[in-house]
Parts: sequence; structure tokens; C-alpha cells
Amino acid sequence: MDADFFVAWIEEAARSVRDRKDELTRLDAAIGDADHGSNLDRGFTEAVKALGDRRPGTPGAVLALVGNTLIRKVGGASGPLYGTAFREAGKALGEAPEVSAGDLAGALAAGVDAVRRLGSAAEGDKTMVDALAPAAEALAEAVRAAPESPGAAVAEGRGPAGALEAAAAAALKGAQATIPMQARKGRASYLGPRSVGHQDPGAASAALIVRALCTVAAR
Ligand code: ADP
Ligand code: MG
Repeated sequence: MDADFFVAWIEEAARSVRDRKDELTRLDAAIGDADHGSNLDRGFTEAVKALGDRRPGTPGAVLALVGNTLIRKVGGASGPLYGTAFREAGKALGEAPEVSAGDLAGALAAGVDAVRRLGSAAEGDKTMVDALAPAAEALAEAVRAAPESPGAAVAEGRGPAGALEAAAAAALKGAQATIPMQARKGRASYLGPRSVGHQDPGAASAALIVRALCTVAAR
């Protein structure tokens, strides 16, 4: 996977966020302030624009630019959280022009750790961590189960696309599992028990972003 792959991921994520913008905003209207869809739509639109202007040459540089753009352009909690996640993931990829599914698993884990640290959120707090952490674990597990033997694993659907399908499914399941949780972090936590019964908007957007990665890998 090279820089073009990562640019295609962000373009696909931007499309998906735009398509689901109203749904993300509806989720945030229920337990937040109804801006999550527009926050992320603005952020990813700006990220796509920045990538078009600058065309970074490595996967790590693509993610760094996306992270910096999200931090600058997205108000609210999700901008710094997603921004830092992309930046740390980019840092984990270093300056390699091509990265493997194993490298990507390491980068996703680094991104999730960054969100945990910055947001001091753990799994079960009803945040994006509840989608991102199982995705990172599923990706790491899929990579361990099918160590990269170029060609063979990919042909059997166990290469990056197969591993990313497992990650996307885990993220969706994690997002849906936030519905019965009571929020312990972010704006939704102010609602206390009234936050129960609604899906966390950040977990829902995290599932879309991981799904976009899988969509691009399957092309
Ligand atoms: P804001 O809450 O400032 O309006 P957004 O609506 O864009 O920002 O994003 C809200 C999402 O951010 C939540 O659904 C949750 O997933 C995530 N979030 C908020 N606070 C935290 C935190 N401390 N740790 C991890 N994620 C958080
Ligand atoms: Mg909000």
C-alpha cells in the first residue's frame, strides 16, 4: 500500500462521511450538540483538498497531513482526537514509500492509543474508542493469522482486503455495542443515564472511516 492508496482511503472516507452526514448529526443531536456530521464533513473535505494541493509522497506523510488538517479545521472534541490519531498513525508508518498490512495494523494501534491518551477514554466509555479499539485488534489478529506471503494470501482473500474486512466488521459491531452504554466521556456524559439507548456518533463515524479503508483495499 503506497501513498496513492492512502489518499484513496481519505477520499473514500470523505465521500462516506458526506453520504452519512445527516445520520451522524442525528446521532449527535440525541446525546450531544448535533454537529458531528458537519464537523467531520468539513474536516475530511479540507483534508482531501490539502492532499490534492500537496500530494505527499509516502503513506506516513499522507496521514500526517490529514491529521494536521483535521486538528486545524474541526472544532469540537472529534477534530483533535481524530487529528491526533491520524498524526500518530502517520508517525508509526515512518517514511516508507510502501507499507504492509502489518505496518497498517501497528499504525492503527498507535492511532487508537493516541485517542485513549488524549481523551483519557477506555473501552466501554461510549466513544470512538469503542469502534477503533476492536478494529485495531481485529486487524492485528487477522495479520497474525495470515502472515504476509505475497500473492497467495491476497488471492485467498486473506491479504490486506481480508484483514481489513475483519477490522471494518469489528468497528461496526463496536459502534453498535455503544447503544446500551452510558457515556463516561465527552459531551454525552453530561446526560448521565439519558445517554443510554443511543449510538455514539464518534463510534459511528469511526466505523465508516475503517469501512472506507476496506472498500479501497477491495478494489
Ligand atoms: P463535540 O462533542 O465537541 O461536539 P463532536 O460532536 O464532533 O465533538 O464529536 C463527538 C464524539 O467525540 C463523541 O461521539 C465521541 O465519540 C468522541 N469523544 C468525545 N470526547 C471524547 C473523549 N474524551 N475520548 C474519546 N472520544 C471522545
Ligand atoms: Mg458534537
